[in-house]
Amino acid sequence: MARRCPECYAELPEDAVYVCPTCHYTLRTPTFAKVGLVLMVIGVGLLAVFVYGPEKLGLESGIMPTDLARLTIANFPLLVVGAFGLGSLLVVAAALKVRGEQARVAAA
Ligand SMILES: [Zn+2]
Repeated sequence: MARRCPECYAELPEDAVYVCPTCHYTLRTPTFAKVGLVLMVIGVGLLAVFVYGPEKLGLESGIMPTDLARLTIANFPLLVVGAFGLGSLLVVAAALKVRGEQARVAAA
């Protein structure tokens, strides 16, 4: 049973993973794009917490070891930038991968 493109119903060859060779429809989003998006959402969430004040979260009330809580609060901007930066990096990498296959398909 051959796979078909949901957009133009052309049969898809084995090597068409992300892009339909007939209509250039994006067949699927690479998994790491989704991971990247989740990380970006986490980054935005962390930013909101940062604006609110990480010390108000009650991290020092005993849920986690005091040292770890202090460390988390001290490095909070780093966490925000890290999650958001890594997230956008993954999204860009995924976009480039899809673009790469589109270019390959267009050249063929
Ligand atoms: Zn198609």
